[in-house]
Amino acid sequence: MGPKGSADSWERPDLAPYAARSSASRGRKYPEVLKDDRPHFERDRDRIIHCTAFRRLEYKTQVFVNHEGDYYRTRLTHTLEVAQISKGIARRLKLNEDLAESIALGHDLGHTPFGHTGEETLDQLMQDFGGFEHNRQSLRIVEVLEERYPNFPGLNLTWETREGLIKRSGRDFQTSSRVPEEYEPHLAPTLEAQIIELADEIAYNNHDIDDGLEAGYLHREDLMDLELWREVNEKVRRKYPGLDPKREKYQTISHLIGHLILDLVENTLSLIEENRIKDLYDVRHFRQHLVRFSPETERKNLRLKEFLHQRLYRHYKVERMRLKARRTIRRLFETYLENPTLLPDKYQRRAQQEPPERVVCDYIAGMTDRYALEEFKRLFDPEERV
Ligand code: MG
Repeated sequence: MGPKGSADSWERPDLAPYAARSSASRGRKYPEVLKDDRPHFERDRDRIIHCTAFRRLEYKTQVFVNHEGDYYRTRLTHTLEVAQISKGIARRLKLNEDLAESIALGHDLGHTPFGHTGEETLDQLMQDFGGFEHNRQSLRIVEVLEERYPNFPGLNLTWETREGLIKRSGRDFQTSSRVPEEYEPHLAPTLEAQIIELADEIAYNNHDIDDGLEAGYLHREDLMDLELWREVNEKVRRKYPGLDPKREKYQTISHLIGHLILDLVENTLSLIEENRIKDLYDVRHFRQHLVRFSPETERKNLRLKEFLHQRLYRHYKVERMRLKARRTIRRLFETYLENPTLLPDKYQRRAQQEPPERVVCDYIAGMTDRYALEEFKRLFDPEERV
């Protein structure tokens, strides 16, 4: 530990030996004179919360497009749930909560308007120009696109946070080709980064059930076919007999989140012990992810995911929005590319120096749902002001 008043002095003393330490960070790309003594990962978190892309998450789709109602999750509230779950898991595993939190808060920065449909459409449109993928875009935002600091592009985050953003998903890290060499694609990421994918899953499975029920796209009786839901629901009904349906729903979701977190923590601790993981070196050189559900919970959780896929993400009303999203993004992309003078000045200047497809792609990816829909109206509705 460093002297009082240095960043290291704020490091939690009870971190596990396999946790990522702020004091052992590989640091930032550009040298900086720092104005205070926050630990590195805490500073990363603060920079992410204050960036433009973070605030735009408020008007980006999770499943339901923003204008469909105020009840539903947006990318922003989803992100906050992921951060909360990640921190809870990190604390119980004695990992670095600041690092887990900054990766969680940054994990969806690169999302396009209209959720995965937006991502798929941009990826198709960018097929011959390097493609599009939201994790890569998150990294691009924090490395290049944010403009806030006098002496460098992006947010100049630590290597560990950036590594977490690009490596957080996919347990296939050894074969993944999308991780740049700089982030050592052959090595596993920190446990703090490994948490994020499953915290993401715990968050969206549960809030999508809640939102799906609220929208009337899912029905309680159907959920009872799911082992995981049924078991937890029975427990809740035994604990609170005669509870009204709304409270029963919330309590089941709350207990389910708790159940999944506990399973994940316990199973991860036993994997760490069984495989004699002693430090971060062992984590990085272990051939698989160590943060996992127990096999039984993994199986039940998979059923839950399949259920949501069939019943919610393929619901005809969600499909209708998908079609509209695809059309909006495609038309905007083609129109800007044919008429670069329609782009804001900054993007026009960039389009003269960089491949215009990438510039248009960055511009559209940065839009919120409502901005994209308004822009579509401005460009194609003759009644609308430009
Ligand atoms: Mg997410």
